[in-house]
Amino acid sequence: MSALVLGHKNPDTDSIISALSAANLYRGRGIDVSSAAQGEPAPETAFVLERFKLTAPEVVKSVSGRELYLVDYSDLAQAPDDFKEAKLLGIVDHHKLGDVTSDAPLECWIQPVGCSNTIIYLMHKYYKVDIPANLAGGMLCAILSDTVLFKSPTCTQADKEAAEALAKIAGISDLNALGMEMFKAKSNLDASPRDLIFRDFKDFDMGGRKIGIGQLELISLDMVSPKLEQELNAELGKVKGEGRHSAILVLTDIMKEGSRVLLCSDDESAVLKALGASSKDAFLPGVMSRKKQVVPPLQQTFK
Ligand code: MG
Ligand code: MG
Ligand code: MG
Repeated sequence: MSALVLGHKNPDTDSIISALSAANLYRGRGIDVSSAAQGEPAPETAFVLERFKLTAPEVVKSVSGRELYLVDYSDLAQAPDDFKEAKLLGIVDHHKLGDVTSDAPLECWIQPVGCSNTIIYLMHKYYKVDIPANLAGGMLCAILSDTVLFKSPTCTQADKEAAEALAKIAGISDLNALGMEMFKAKSNLDASPRDLIFRDFKDFDMGGRKIGIGQLELISLDMVSPKLEQELNAELGKVKGEGRHSAILVLTDIMKEGSRVLLCSDDESAVLKALGASSKDAFLPGVMSRKKQVVPPLQQTFK
């Protein structure tokens, strides 16, 4: 059976496209793999797949007995529940080092860049494997998404160079226009409050506490009506009640380049203090990255 190239739970564009692009790379090296995802594409990803005529990876929830390459994560909490019954062959990631481990030596490509697809682009260069034009378009979108059009503090020179090279292969000249089309698709709030919270949601273990953090990146925070905000708050209460210390939803305004948070927590004031928010409604200018600006201060507070 072929090895699975598998992204994280609640897949985003980077994790879905990474499963496709890393599979292209491994196949180019003669490794038998198939792309997989732990869920259906969210609206932004559906737009990207359609725009570049790419096929969504097969949805896989159980990996018992399979060989695995992880893309875009290395945290157990983001892996399938039976991950420990699989054999880990490799990791490509750009997050903090997680808590997965392996029984045998494995291939790791982990770099502090803005997007897993930047690393996968560099791997293609290193192994001299070609990237088809449509796949390059998808990889470009993953970089635009993860770096929020190069505006996120996670963005590096390597991301910009990879995006430029991929745009050339894909025949795309206006990156801003493509990015805005994508973010319009992403700003779709036509879903249940629960689906909105879990669209891009990650659980973290912080000093034995389970802290769940979702993020919605929107073209404007005005899109969130008072009624929707009330519904999201009520649903966060339920999400917290499912065994979590805190359930947090970061609402990010990609045009104004900042965020505000909705939360339900056993220690609301500590969460707000960690994030530098003077009150629940405070707008946090410049806060765009969960991995760099939200998770580390919380981890520091709740270690
Ligand atoms: Mg991701
Ligand atoms: Mg990513
Ligand atoms: Mg993201």
